[in-house]
Parts: sequence; C-alpha cells; structure tokens
Amino acid sequence: PETPESTSTTNMSAKKKIAIMTSGGDSPGMNGVVRACVRMAIHMGCDAYCIYEGYEGLVRGGDLIRKMNWYDVRGWLSEGGTLIGTARCMAFFERAGRLAAAKNMILHGIDALIICGGDGSLTGADRFRAEWPSLLDELAANGEFTTQELQPFRHLNIVGLVGSIDNDLSGTDATIGCYSALARICYAVDLIEATASSHSRAFVVEVMGRHCGWLALMAGVATGADFIFIPEKPREDNWREEMCSIVEHHRKIGKRKTIVIIAEGALDREGNKITPAMVKDLLADKDGLGLDTRITTLGHVQRGGTAVAYDRMLATLQGVEAVKAVLEATPETKTCVIAITENKIVRKPLMDAVQDTKKVAKAIERQDFEEAMGLRDAEFSEQYKSFMMTTAVQVDKELLLPEKERMRIGFINVGAPAGGMNAAVRAGVAYCLSRGHEPMAIYNGFAGFARHHADNPGAVRPFNWLEVDGWASKGGSEIGTNRELPGESGMETIANLIEQYKFDALFLIGGFEAFHAVSQLRKARDQYPSLCIPMTLLPATISNNVPGTEYSLGSDTCLNELVEYCDKIKQSASATRRRVFVIETQGGRSGYVATLGGLGVGASAVYTPEEGVSLDMLAADVRHLKNVFAHDQGQSRAGRLILINEKASKVYNAKLIADILREESHGRFESREGIPGHMQQGGVPSPMDRCRAVRLAIRCIQHLEQFGRNVHNRVKVDPMSTTVIGIKGASVVFTPVKQVEEEETDWPNRRPKAAYWLGMKEIVDILGGRPKYELPESDL
Ligand code: ATP
Repeated sequence: PETPESTSTTNMSAKKKIAIMTSGGDSPGMNGVVRACVRMAIHMGCDAYCIYEGYEGLVRGGDLIRKMNWYDVRGWLSEGGTLIGTARCMAFFERAGRLAAAKNMILHGIDALIICGGDGSLTGADRFRAEWPSLLDELAANGEFTTQELQPFRHLNIVGLVGSIDNDLSGTDATIGCYSALARICYAVDLIEATASSHSRAFVVEVMGRHCGWLALMAGVATGADFIFIPEKPREDNWREEMCSIVEHHRKIGKRKTIVIIAEGALDREGNKITPAMVKDLLADKDGLGLDTRITTLGHVQRGGTAVAYDRMLATLQGVEAVKAVLEATPETKTCVIAITENKIVRKPLMDAVQDTKKVAKAIERQDFEEAMGLRDAEFSEQYKSFMMTTAVQVDKELLLPEKERMRIGFINVGAPAGGMNAAVRAGVAYCLSRGHEPMAIYNGFAGFARHHADNPGAVRPFNWLEVDGWASKGGSEIGTNRELPGESGMETIANLIEQYKFDALFLIGGFEAFHAVSQLRKARDQYPSLCIPMTLLPATISNNVPGTEYSLGSDTCLNELVEYCDKIKQSASATRRRVFVIETQGGRSGYVATLGGLGVGASAVYTPEEGVSLDMLAADVRHLKNVFAHDQGQSRAGRLILINEKASKVYNAKLIADILREESHGRFESREGIPGHMQQGGVPSPMDRCRAVRLAIRCIQHLEQFGRNVHNRVKVDPMSTTVIGIKGASVVFTPVKQVEEEETDWPNRRPKAAYWLGMKEIVDILGGRPKYELPESDL
C-alpha cells in the first residue's frame, strides 16, 4: 500500500494527478512543502508527482517528472535546500518551451500544478495558465493529441506557494524560508558581536536582499544593531552624518562594539548604491570615528541548512492548503497563492501579489521610496520605526513629550523565563527614554517587589540604558522573574509600593501567572485606589497558553529547541532503524508545544491534554507502528517520534508509553523515552521572538502612554486600562483583561478556551499516516 493504512476520504471520480515543483532560488522549507503536498495529495486519493529541476523538468519531461509514493518523502522536513532540485530555465520564457511543458504534462496525465518559488516563478506560472487554452489548441493543430484526448485537460489548475529567503512577496507576512535565513544571519551577528566587543571593533555585515530589506531590517531589530541600510527606505541625504552621530553617541555612552547591517541592494536617495566599503571607510575615517572596522559578507550561508520550526510549520500548513485549493478549484477560480497574515493561512489572487511585488522594485527604481515602503506590509514600516527609535535613543530630541505628559512606568516579569523577555524590556525602555518617560525595573517579579524593604533595597531601580542596550539577544530574564502572584505577596503591600514609587503605569511581561496577576490587581482596585493606574500585559511563555493571544513570546524559541532536539534523536536511530522515541514536551495543560513540535518534526503521533491518552489509543498506535515498520523497505534511515505533552495523562507518561510500545511490539521495533525538559526554554531567543518582542513592547508602552498621568477616575471605568496585547487572527489587538477573564479563559486548565491550532493535530496525523482514531462506542 502507498500509505501505512489507507486514509483516503475522497471519492475516486474526483481523482486528480497533482504535480509539485520547486523553482527559483532554493529556500529552507521547500522540502517540507513537497512532503506535505505529496502526502496530502495521496491522502485525498490523488496521484502525486514531482517535477525535478523546476521548469527545466517540465520542459524536458521524461524521468524529470516522477510519480511519488508515501515513503519517498520520508524525513524531508529536516533536510535543507530542495531535494527535487531547482533551476533557472531560459526555455520557459519562450512559448516553445511552454508548449513542450504543456505536452509533457498531458503525457503524464497531470491536471494540476503546485509551484513553490519566488515572484519570477509565480509570474511564469500565471503566464502558463493564461496561455493554457491556446497551448492546447496548438497541440491539437500540430496533431500531438486529438481534441478528445485533450478534453480532460481543458482547465489547468495552478496554485502558488512562496518559497524565498528574502521575504519579498507582497501580500504575505512571511515567505517559506525567510525566518530560517534570518536565524542564520542573527546567529552570525551574535557571534561577531563577541569579537567586536572584545576588540572594541566595528563590523559592517552585508546580508542578502537586492530589492527587499526585510532580512537586514529584521536582523537589525533582532540583534540591536547600531545602524541598517535597506533599499526601500534610504535615509536623508545626510545619512553619513546621521550614522556617524548615532555610532558616536553609542560609543560615548560606553558601547564597545558597533554593528552596521547593510542589504545587498542598499541605496541612497539618488539611487546610488551604498556599499559595505563606503560604510567601512566612514567608520574607520581617521579624522572622524577612527574605528577599527571590518566587513563581513555572509553570502550563501544565509540560504543554508535545515529549516527553523516556523518555516516547517508554514511549509506544511501551506502545502496542505495548496492541495485543498487545487481540489476545491472550479474553472472560474482565479489562480491563487497561499499566504499568511499574522497567524492565518489564506488564499490570495496570485497576480495581485506578484504585481504588487514588482511595483516595489519599480518604485525603488523611480526613487519613490514612500510608495516602496507603502507596498510592504504594515509590520515592515512598524519595525522600521521601532528600529530607528531603539537605535537613536537619546539622540532624536524631537520625540520627547512635554514634561507633564511623561510617565513613570514600572516593568515587571512574572512566571518562568521565556525567549524575548529581555528584548521586550529593552525595546520598552528605549521607547520610554525616547519619549522622556521614566522606566523603572522591578526586580524578581511580585515576590521581589514585596520583599524589597527588608533585605533587598535594590528591588526597584531605574534602568541603565548602556546595560539594557545589550539585552536584545539575551535569553532568560535580566530583571528576574518569579511565579508569585500579588495576592500571595500581599495585595496591600503591592498597592502601597505602587503608591510609594509613584508609578503611573505598569508593564507586565510573562505567562499565565502574569495574566492571573493582572486579573488580581484589576479586581483589587475597589479596595486599593493606588491600583487605578493603566496596566498592560505582553504574553511571554514557552507554553503559549495565555488567553487573549494566539502567540506568546518564547514559544517560537521553544519550538526551535524542540525540533532541533528531535532531529538529533531521530537521527541517532539511523543505525538501528526500528526505533520509536517517545518525547515528553513542556506546555502545562496546553498541547501547543507538542502539536506544533509534532508538525515540525513529522511525528507519528502527538498526545495532548486536550485529547488525553487512553489504552485504546495506545493499542491503535502500536498497530499503526507495526504496520509502518512492516512496510518499511529500509528507505527510512531514522527513528520514529511520538510527542507527548507533560500533562497529557496522569498515568501514561513518556516512560510508561515507551515501555508499553516495546512490550507490545513483540520485537518488531524498539522504543525509548526522551525528556528535553528545561532545554526547551532555549538559550538565545529566536529572531522571531526578539522581533515580535520589540514590536509588541513598543505598542504596549504607546498604549499606556495614551492614558497619561493621574487618571484614577478614567481607569476605574475604562476597560482598556487593563489589557492583554495579542495576535489574534490577522491583527495585533489589545483586549480588556476583564473580557479575557470572563469569556476567553479556561481557568481550571490554565489555557485559552479556544485554540486556533487544535486543528493542526489532524494534519500531523494525516501526514504521519496515522489512522483516524475514533473513541470506542462504550466511551462515548
Ligand atoms: P528568487 O526569489 O529566488 O529569485 P524567483 O522565482 O523569482 O526566485 P526567477 O529566476 O525570477 O526566480 O524565476 C525562476 C524561473 O521561473 C525562471 O528561470 C523561468 O524559468 C521562470 N520565469 C520567471 N519569469 C517568467 C516569465 N515572465 N515568463 C515565463 N517564465 C518565467
């Protein structure tokens, strides 16, 4: 059989032959796309084909077009580049080439095409589909096929997926591969920083992006670089002085390193190229800064390697969506591209996205930079502003608010550490300083705050910017975090301290405890008027279980760690082959980490607290695994994985399940448990967590700032005075804590009532070939 057990749900008359192809520059995640498309197509009862070498394979045909079976794509999620090859194909620019391509498709009976590539590849695809009827006519006229033979192929179905490291396609927040490339860049910059600091040097780091500054911008935000150059937004004509004055200021306050990130396509306002050498000369100029300056060109390492968890998730979900789009298309459906906005996978008209993308390049050519920035998504401009704000702290005096509007804002971390907490504090502090507010650090959560009198007088201190500026890429929590709730510390003490320190607002960063803390503070307002100050929470926890948001800082870092760990464990079984690992993940009573981790590593099964574990389910999985190993002809050189959340069951833990599997396999396979534990908190936070930390933290302070000082009466009645910031669907929103408490929180289970990712478990099961598990009637 093609699948371990047939899971097909489609009626066979709708059977399609769907081909998948990767084209243009390779990007991490392309293999995940191919795996998802091939398996989803087979699952839906269709035939899956791969076109090797991009359009070249379509034009040349023959064995470059191959039928794929279920096991052909095993283990592909963790492979870098594209295993089916890619190429730039001149022939496809010509009609003759496209005619040959059409003929090859018909010869193989292929009636739908999924293409993963950049804007060039998608333009080619659109052209192909537009021309399709005339290509068929020509094939009929040439006598290649009869009209009757061509009849089933009248409508060509094409769906695009955006695979590119540049994140240069309009209409989608992220292209498949861009976060992996960003991770490589940030990793490199983090390494360079250590040596830069040691020698007090300056480094000019060139990154990819001919027409798109996304990588340079986000790397600048994530690493807290001193200056960046991107094609879409050249600085004013005085960019030389501007850069030098910012760097000079940083050096004056005591910074020992200087990092300037420059996109390949960086320009000045006249459209002249700004090169790394020019920047280096400026920084090194003996009559100016005179810094010992080096250039590092990162080049192709940016493309390399295995995809980060986010790209694997994106590749998998979009691949599945592409197959669905193919099957749902009618002759009237416009060609679509699969996009993502914030957390939502959506279909968009392909040509709109391509045309908007081309407009950016044209706008840059015309030096219409306003338009170029306008065509990028909202996050891009926001991040650009965030970057300039955090790098030009105390340089740009125009941002300062009038004296009477300046606030004293307390910063506090609550709960367990999560990647991005420090980046959020840093950005919040930077924003405060730029506006003239007074940011104050409350050390070690509410516990530290409450106990500051006796033995800890330094529990509340103003921030030192030089120190905080170095926190952009630091893991853990520099101001310390603690799980204690204000109710436990003593609400009266907390209320008195807030009064004593004259805080005008409170900015909390943390997980479910932090949410619980805000909720307690809100409820205690009637009793303690000093609590009538605006408060906002930025969710940060690896478990991603804070209600009011679909994403918490730190959850991306955690998934990367988990995926990396699982890849290694899986590979360790390559000698024995027949081994199943049962991996216990963190996540409290939320199955988010286990499910998304399962999606990223291609798990055979995922056990979550939402669903629970039963003996029956385990028995079904033993049968499934036996079946899988029985059909494994030795193609697979690695083990299988089952991910189980730490609280999925009170009885069946990772060890017990591993023991049961081993016993029940009757020698067909081996089984071991693995517990990555606190490793999942991660070392250095992922670039996504760092960048989102910056964006969301600044939004939080802006939100608090709207209230101003002495607003007791307003705070009492305005539900927006106590909020959680979150990403919900396609937008960033503040939700009143009261509403979240009452409508969105599953208190006993410490998680949100609804979770957008629950459906993803089904995708893990489908792509892992796991038979659908039905509860036995007696349990219903
Ligand atoms: P990247 O973002 O990595 O540059 P891309 O998909 O934009 O990826 P291109 O080299 O522009 O990369 O395009 C890949 C292939 O797509 C081309 O080699 C060509 O075969 C095909 N193609 C691109 N543009 C067209 C077009 N206008 N008409 C027909 N085919 C095209």
